[in-house]
Amino acid sequence: LVETEEDKEEDLRPRPPVVTILGHVDHGKTSLLDAIREANVTSQEAGGITQHIGAYQAEYNDKKIVFLDTPGHEAFTAMRARGAQVTDIAIVVVAADDGVMPQTVEAINHVKAADVPIIIAVNKIDKPNANPDRVKQQLAEYELIPEDWGGDTVFVDVSALKHTGLDTLMEMILLVSEMAELKANPDKPALGTVVEAKLDKGRGPVATVLIQDGTIEVGDSIICGTIYGKVRAMVDDRGNRIEKAGPATPVEILGLNDVAEAGDMLQVVTDDKMARQISEKRSDKRREVELKKSAK
Ligand code: GDP
Repeated sequence: LVETEEDKEEDLRPRPPVVTILGHVDHGKTSLLDAIREANVTSQEAGGITQHIGAYQAEYNDKKIVFLDTPGHEAFTAMRARGAQVTDIAIVVVAADDGVMPQTVEAINHVKAADVPIIIAVNKIDKPNANPDRVKQQLAEYELIPEDWGGDTVFVDVSALKHTGLDTLMEMILLVSEMAELKANPDKPALGTVVEAKLDKGRGPVATVLIQDGTIEVGDSIICGTIYGKVRAMVDDRGNRIEKAGPATPVEILGLNDVAEAGDMLQVVTDDKMARQISEKRSDKRREVELKKSAK
């Protein structure tokens, strides 16, 4: 990472929380992400089509919440393995009919290892064979004790299908987020993490970056792992072209010279020359490490 100055307390502003949804396959991660999006993302233009760019910003009671839209813990673990910590709150979805399954346990372990606050969404409570109490019993074995049983884990009963319990879930996310006192400094060059990247036929390399700190603007020189470039254009999660993006904003960035990898850090640097130099240095370093590895 390029060195950055430490923030002064007075430069810090509250920022929205970033939430990841994890859980066993078919327990409803995608349905829940879609339901929250439908209920809490107002598309600005009539007939506006929301874009799936890997993350989206929802709004509840005038407060923003960012959801990483790549369900499953692959993304979560891939990012963590590369040292990227983007999630502030993890929602673990457990289907009320199925109960705790192997991937539920895996998800819990990942979240605990990352030391991220957890909210349990007990989903599919609309089903006749739903048994939310059994889910609570099962999770007690993993030291996740609901508040009404004297513990401190937040449980919310939801149905992604019927859109039940979504408001409570959003309230709980905001509550947990307030306790974390999340802050960022919007008045400095941006720092972010790539959540998704692809090569687009028409647009070239496109990276969805979650801006975590500072502000990024069109024209900024950027470095991202060993690749670099200049921000040619940015598109938000509603498909709008934007000129700048601040903390906790997911944004598609065009202008990198290659396809980034999820988990890569993106950083705005002073100019193109610096971006290129850092890229070369990192490439050399990477080659060195690989040579050493192959020599062993
Ligand atoms: P994922 O694999 O965790 O992303 O799960 P999906 O969101 O794809 O959901 C798996 C299946 O469960 C789909 O057939 C959904 O329609 C269904 N499903 C998801 N949420 C609910 C719910 O709240 N109630 C009911 N009855 N079915 C649901």
